[in-house]
Amino acid sequence: MSHTWGDSSMATNGSAPLVFRLHENTPEVVREVLLERGWEEYDPHEQVEGDWNLYWRTSAFRNFEYENILPWQRLNHHPKMTRIARKDYLARNLRRMRGTYGAALYGFSPTAFILPNDYIKFLEVYTKTRVENAGKPGYWICKPVDLSRGRGIFIFDDIKHLAYNSHVIVQKYISNPLLISGYKFDLRIYVCVKSFCPLTIYMHQEGLVRFATEKYNLASLDNLFSHLTNTSINKFGPFYTTDKERVGQGCKWTLSKFRSFLHSQGINELLLWQKINNIVTLTLLTMASSIPSSPNCLELFGFDILIDSNLKPWLLEVNYSPALSLDCPADIVVKKGVINDLIDLMNYRKVDGLRQRGCLRRRHKRTCCLGSPSSQRKSLAAFLIPKSVSGKKRQRQSSLNSLHAENLVCPSVERSVNSLGSTLHPACQNSKTIIVSGNKKKSPLQVEGPTCWSELEESFEDHRDIIRRCSSHACRLPAIHAPKYKPPRFSWDQGTHEMTTPSLRVGDFILTFPFNEATWKASQDTLDVKTVLHEVHQLMSQLTFSCVHKEKRRKENNDSSAAIKNKFASLLWGPRNPPLLSEYCSSKSSCPLEMSYKG
Ligand code: ADP
Repeated sequence: MSHTWGDSSMATNGSAPLVFRLHENTPEVVREVLLERGWEEYDPHEQVEGDWNLYWRTSAFRNFEYENILPWQRLNHHPKMTRIARKDYLARNLRRMRGTYGAALYGFSPTAFILPNDYIKFLEVYTKTRVENAGKPGYWICKPVDLSRGRGIFIFDDIKHLAYNSHVIVQKYISNPLLISGYKFDLRIYVCVKSFCPLTIYMHQEGLVRFATEKYNLASLDNLFSHLTNTSINKFGPFYTTDKERVGQGCKWTLSKFRSFLHSQGINELLLWQKINNIVTLTLLTMASSIPSSPNCLELFGFDILIDSNLKPWLLEVNYSPALSLDCPADIVVKKGVINDLIDLMNYRKVDGLRQRGCLRRRHKRTCCLGSPSSQRKSLAAFLIPKSVSGKKRQRQSSLNSLHAENLVCPSVERSVNSLGSTLHPACQNSKTIIVSGNKKKSPLQVEGPTCWSELEESFEDHRDIIRRCSSHACRLPAIHAPKYKPPRFSWDQGTHEMTTPSLRVGDFILTFPFNEATWKASQDTLDVKTVLHEVHQLMSQLTFSCVHKEKRRKENNDSSAAIKNKFASLLWGPRNPPLLSEYCSSKSSCPLEMSYKG
């Protein structure tokens, strides 16, 4: 896969290289990809606080990190992601949506009970299932709510084997999975939520297929190598390195290889992808409106999907820090591609290389809620006050010091430099050190010199005004760069061209939401879940219609396809070179899907 890196050329065409900051335990592949793209790694001993463009953590960020974010910075997590990534929260959210909108839309996750709270409810369903199956056991899987990588999971058919000493979910076990040469597998689908407000979802065309390493066998429920598809488990299995029938060595395929397999079996996969696509959208809808707006963040999710023998995809869980370790060749191809495309989605521009200068501009331009005034002071002070200057940092510092004299590329930056000059106390303007003493307390940032905070504080007054007007959790940063090119726009309505619509694809990330004008409008201000669900339902009905009645209604299909074509030009997520969704609607598919909407 070849990529053209906009960011690697930054160092050579005038701006400083982009800088990444990694929290401990960040997978090595992230560092590798960013260095390959010409980025530099942040060194807290060498560089000024905040002098970075991307902060990557596997765990969640803390509130103050969102509050103090600067215009050129990005974080790899949105706030409050446990709402979807913790198994119990996800189960609760999906149950609520199923209760409100019906199982036709929200019937894609196995029935789940959160124990110990739901124990009585579980007991009822367990008993009922046994009776209905004439005493035959139903199968259940028990998973600790906050563990990952298959830890603590077991499968049972008799309640006497259910034992737990922490919060767990007990979920209906999908006992008829689609098998390849007798091996169970699930799909790891990479999804990027570029924004929750407005909701903007991309799905990567590459992904992973993860196999169990022993043949599927319901007679041995305690054989995890047969029932669980986690690599973290199977790589320790006795048959991991064996060349397994059709599956091969190891336990992973790329999604492309899986697609070829489906073709070889004569399976029309298009409807399958669209169903998975819907699962992703419907799942994210459960919590999208409760996530604070944070435009400088994006999220890479790993959706785990199990396909059953009827080709129905089931959502098993959502990971907000999907594993990025490189265990095998499939991992290298897929994960490096995903991270590269993710960086492209972060939309860095040349001006982001002007970090320190941008900070000065921020004082007069930003409209972000930045938390307490004291935290604002700190982040600004971090830029104004040099720590010990040396080597590479000295270069950066001198560029900061020479700011007043320099003719900057960006006119808005230039304006802010001038305004800084008029804001600072004259004694500060030529001084290399200032003292932070506005609140009379010594801060770790203090250095000796003249006092300037009173003047700086005045300049914050206008921001405070804006901040007071923002909601307590909204964090809207200005777009500090005009896009180099206009992204492709949806073509349905000339009248909407005033507002930016997201790119249809970025690398191998395909825009899957919004997918037409109605969903785009419904996600602009307050997310209109009902309208979105209605559109998802409509789309699925049209697709189903063209599947089931393809011969009888060939002419009508063509008509409806033309009608759709006029309405929107979304791509179909899934195939390597995705057709337009409208073309897909008229494609011949043999896979029926039944849906009814209870909106
Ligand atoms: P973890 O976060 O520990 O990986 P998962 O929910 O992803 O937990 O489950 C681990 C594995 O167990 C899955 O990859 C899948 O193979 C299997 N599994 C989980 N839930 C089910 C289910 N309801 N039906 C069938 N298999 C399941």
